[in-house]
Amino acid sequence: MLVDSHCHLDFPDFANELDAVVARARAAGVVRMVTVSTRVARHREVLAITERFADVFCSVGTHPHYAHEEPGVTADDLVARTRHPKVVALGEAGLDYHYDNAPREAQERGLRTHIDAARATGLPLIIHTREADADTARILEEEMGKGAFSAVLHCFTGGRELARRAVALGLFVSFTGILTFKS
Ligand SMILES: [Zn+2]
Ligand SMILES: [Zn+2]
Repeated sequence: MLVDSHCHLDFPDFANELDAVVARARAAGVVRMVTVSTRVARHREVLAITERFADVFCSVGTHPHYAHEEPGVTADDLVARTRHPKVVALGEAGLDYHYDNAPREAQERGLRTHIDAARATGLPLIIHTREADADTARILEEEMGKGAFSAVLHCFTGGRELARRAVALGLFVSFTGILTFKS
């Protein structure tokens, strides 16, 4: 059984061939897809996709690239949005110091808000972290001290130390083809 736990079906690239994209995934044996939210402001569009396809589920959250655009999103807002039956996770939220698209304080605030929502709902948080190992580990350890939550460091490109500290907290680390890049 194949599950695509991280796709972005609402991205404009797929707008004109969404049916075909989902059909190809099914033909390849994918029985569930989780289309991952990157902007709470666009969550309505993401939900519409999940309502169109029985096997497509979603998360809700603000990608670190857009953390500064959605500073007003609270943990309560996120929790309320998880009540939709197709929402199975929070995120993706986290820290991306490679692009530094959003100020780092906004990224950190966003990550902590998503952790609050994950803790409150028991749903897993999809964490995006890039070139931010030390801050990611520090925040995860501080937040775990306030109460348990579940999370996956998706598409991991960090160092051994971050992976070790995340696993020690009981979190998951996901590896993808990026691991095979020469750099
Ligand atoms: Zn993603
Ligand atoms: Zn990501």
